[in-house]
Amino acid sequence: MTKIKVKNPVVELDGDELTRIIWKDIKDRFIFPYLDIDIKYYDLGLEYRDATNNQVTADAAEAIKKYSVGIKCATITPDQARVKEFNLKQMWPSPNVAVRTAVGGTIFREPVIIPRIPRLVQGWKKPIIIGRHAFGDQYRAKERRFESAGKLEMVFTPHNGGTPETIEVYEYPKNGGVGLTMYNTTDSIQDFAHSCFQFALSKKMPLFLSTKNTVLKQYDGHFKDTFAEIFATQYRQAYEEAGISYEHRLIDDMVAQMIKSEGGMVIALKNYDGDIQSDIVAQGFGSLGLMTSILVSPDGRTFQTEAAHGTITRHYREHQQGKETSSNPIASIFAWTRALIRRGELDQTPEVVEFAKAVEKACIDTVDIDGIMTRDLAITCGKTDRASWVFTREYMEAVEKRLQKMLATNP
Ligand code: NAD
Repeated sequence: MTKIKVKNPVVELDGDELTRIIWKDIKDRFIFPYLDIDIKYYDLGLEYRDATNNQVTADAAEAIKKYSVGIKCATITPDQARVKEFNLKQMWPSPNVAVRTAVGGTIFREPVIIPRIPRLVQGWKKPIIIGRHAFGDQYRAKERRFESAGKLEMVFTPHNGGTPETIEVYEYPKNGGVGLTMYNTTDSIQDFAHSCFQFALSKKMPLFLSTKNTVLKQYDGHFKDTFAEIFATQYRQAYEEAGISYEHRLIDDMVAQMIKSEGGMVIALKNYDGDIQSDIVAQGFGSLGLMTSILVSPDGRTFQTEAAHGTITRHYREHQQGKETSSNPIASIFAWTRALIRRGELDQTPEVVEFAKAVEKACIDTVDIDGIMTRDLAITCGKTDRASWVFTREYMEAVEKRLQKMLATNP
């Protein structure tokens, strides 16, 4: 069989523990046998990050910017216990944050839909994709508890020589209370808007921005106005041509509509709202093993995919004891296929896109039609007996067989 040529390179970021093992298996079964592909490999396994003083993470981020498409395996973000376990030189920061900071942009969480796997929210038939603005607001706020009566003020001192503005916030009664100041920047909100408009357009799905601008008239109003202006001046025509829409919705209306809908939308949310809503959506769709995560830069040109879950440490401990595990590889496989689809679109090589879609279909049909699934999915279906689930290896073998059959009948 001749291999399909992938025109331009992709950047691979290898990872840790059980996902690293699944990762190698994915490449051996679904990538190397079928694709003639130039992979720029970066080992983000914790040992190598430590050996290179984390330089490998910075190099990988630069490579993603250079080649536009990155595929990342889950990695350990070290805490004190990991520093001891791996005898690390220091507690290296999260690689995810490092890549996101270097690339900029927004993370979108997208569930893989398998009809047979029941959703907690039964009406959801299509993905609901949450784009979270991962900058500022509560996560960078200054907060205080005050023990006595007193006055809280907010002061803005312009650097252009203008007069400082003092805003009186609150007069506390005798027992004091709590207060916080949070911020965001116009640049970051604009970048967020572009990432969201670009992403929804690439997905051909309607986009909603959701805020509480009736209460935070200036703060949330700035998000609403920024999105509205960028849409009107830069995206309206492309959206009309793609047959999709953009709207702002009050967050109370949006959550109600989201629960009642059948899905099929991208929702852009501020940092705190996105944090909570993305977990609600993940739960609503079922297993963590079905949730993918995609980082999109503001210009839409840089794209990094990964599974939304971690390194599955609990299963890795079993693996270390020589036990076979039933870990769900679907989100990790989709990290590869989504990146390949993007690569194929950028390179205008439809055969690469078709191949990646065939792998996705084989993954879904193996669960949906053959009823072959890992334990987490069987549990979602209300089954716990041993006959209802298979080990990761057995699931991968079944997908491989399906894929071979599909490619043989439709080469
Ligand atoms: P985890 O996502 O690995 O596991 C959370 C729970 O979900 C566990 O019970 C696990 O068994 C289950 N689970 C997750 N994915 C599964 C899958 N594919 N199949 C079956 N079950 C699955 O998160 P954790 O245990 O909190 O963290 C483990 C490590 O992963 C930590 O070192 C953390 O730093 C890292 N982490 C990395 C990322 C990332 O790279 N994006 C994200 C989260 C956590």
